[in-house]
Amino acid sequence: MNQVFKDLLATRKLPTPSTIALEIMRLSTSESTSLGDIADIVEKDPALSGKLLQYANTALFATTAPVVSIRQAIVRLGTDIVMGLALGFSLLSKNREGRCEHFDYGGFWSGSLAMAMAARCLAEMQAGFDADELFICGLLSEIGRLALASLYPQKYSEILTANLAEPALLLEEYKEFGIDHAEVSMELLREWGIPNGYIEAIILLKQLTPEEATGGERPELLNLLRLSRLMAKMCVMELPLQEKIAAAEELAAQHTMSSEEFGILLDRILLRWREWCLILEIPARECSSSGRIESIGTSEPKPCKIDGEEAFCILAVDDDPTTLQSLKTLLEKDATTILTAKCGDEALRLAIHYQPDLIITNWHMPDMSGIDLCRTLRKTEFAKHLYIIMLTATESDDELVQAFEAGADDYVGKPFTPKVLEARVRGGKRIVRYQEKMNQDRNVIQNYADKLTAVNKKFHTMAMTDPLTGLPNRRYAMERLQEMMSESTGFGSTLSCIMIDIDHFKQINDTYGHDCGDIVLKKISAIFKKKSRTSDMISRIGGEEFLAVSDRNSLHEAVVFAERLRQEIAEHDISLIGRTIRITISLGVAIKTAEMSDGNALIMLADRALYSAKKKGRNRVEVAQTPLPDVRP
Ligand code: GH3
Ligand code: MG
Ligand code: MG
Repeated sequence: MNQVFKDLLATRKLPTPSTIALEIMRLSTSESTSLGDIADIVEKDPALSGKLLQYANTALFATTAPVVSIRQAIVRLGTDIVMGLALGFSLLSKNREGRCEHFDYGGFWSGSLAMAMAARCLAEMQAGFDADELFICGLLSEIGRLALASLYPQKYSEILTANLAEPALLLEEYKEFGIDHAEVSMELLREWGIPNGYIEAIILLKQLTPEEATGGERPELLNLLRLSRLMAKMCVMELPLQEKIAAAEELAAQHTMSSEEFGILLDRILLRWREWCLILEIPARECSSSGRIESIGTSEPKPCKIDGEEAFCILAVDDDPTTLQSLKTLLEKDATTILTAKCGDEALRLAIHYQPDLIITNWHMPDMSGIDLCRTLRKTEFAKHLYIIMLTATESDDELVQAFEAGADDYVGKPFTPKVLEARVRGGKRIVRYQEKMNQDRNVIQNYADKLTAVNKKFHTMAMTDPLTGLPNRRYAMERLQEMMSESTGFGSTLSCIMIDIDHFKQINDTYGHDCGDIVLKKISAIFKKKSRTSDMISRIGGEEFLAVSDRNSLHEAVVFAERLRQEIAEHDISLIGRTIRITISLGVAIKTAEMSDGNALIMLADRALYSAKKKGRNRVEVAQTPLPDVRP
């Protein structure tokens, strides 16, 4: 181990994921791990367990029944999300902010997540890569930076003010601390017991200057990581953007990805990255742009979607300041906000950030041309309805065709006649408004659809609930039992089933009337609810018959639970029209056997035990001794 790192380690100020997160990571990438192994570890961390359950029950994943156990949450979310949450959560909990003034903590996490997402999405697309491994690689590849910021907040902040790019930054770090962030990253990962495979990949990533990137032993991995890094930089909009887009497209082409596929992939990465930033409460947007955008060029950007329907934002792009100024003056009547950009890169950033309604761009500009700007914008989701007018010096047929093919909606010859330009802008505005109207209509329809879904959901809940007691009804119970049977088979865990029947209930009806019978049913149900865990499913499956299914670990636990219910009811005073009565219940307990896959078989077993409890005098718990013989015709 590097001696400097050894000393750093001794300071105990280095970032560390929790031992639970490390263990989950180890298990997730091991082939012999079962979901049950991961659940056992997760359950040791209440904060993480809570977050997982909360996430599994968000609209993103929730289906009909809410998940109440960690096992169900893991099945629903998948190990990759569980691992990412554990790792991200535990590292973030202590390192969301810090004292290193010029270290952009939000930007660091946002960038790391973008890298993790890009690496994962690319790995999923190609055979031969483990998406989980690459997610970890991406997330932790720059952890050394965070470590230096935690260890040397002041000195590192001074170094960062110089805004050095990578080899120079590494050198400066080495001069100051005797170690650079790349080495700290590697040592930290070794320290956390992360397998060599990842560490090698991260070393590779660090050597990715174009000259050195010859491929090494695994050229495909190198390519994948290079592309991930470029795409992550596109997510966080690191400048110069156009250069990155071009390089990424070139690399994507080597992965035999068409330009369209590349656009789709980028959208997917962006979407998942934003989702993750949301889950981990990292401000995806701020850290990617706003602070820096204002400092670019001479534009005076204002939020363009200001209140009112009439807001209309135009972005004018020209490398000639005089033309830009005259465009600005000319367009003032038609727009509530006018943004200006002197080059394509600046325009792209402003467009992504402010999402204007219309863009007028010059064709020929240094670096990124109007055509390239157009093509790039059309790859993004938000710019689909953006109206783009191209300013062209020539109006040759070929050039015009090229402009339209790149995604322009209209063109105006240069030098332009103010009247014509204004007329074209108004034409564009009409189309934008028309599209907005269509979108609004679509939103209204969507709104109706959402309401309908909510009503359907309500009906569904009603159809699954017993109106008298509020407990799940027989229909729900049978569906859920079957699900629980499959889960328990998948996890190799036990499942217990308790059939419950009120003793001599007919007499209650006969003595006090049917309404009083109903009150008794309600009161007993309330006791059942109070005495059970959220993971126990207690339902009313018949008149005065109830079914409890639970993932309690053993027959013994199930019997203890049944006995507790019995005792609770027997000792409870039930008030009925001025008098107090006591009633009893009989219970039959059965445990699912390994070979049993049908819920009905389990219920029959429990029912037999219940019958025996009745026969033996009621107010007692009986256990089903043997499984029913296989009844085959
Ligand atoms: P045992 O101890 O053998 O179970 O005797 P029991 O009287 O409880 O059994 P039996 O099955 O003969 O009677 C069940 C009674 O439950 C008959 C029926 O009138 C009553 N019952 C069924 N559903 C309802 C209901 O929703 N409300 C009321 N008040 N009574 C109901
Ligand atoms: Mg009965
Ligand atoms: Mg009864």
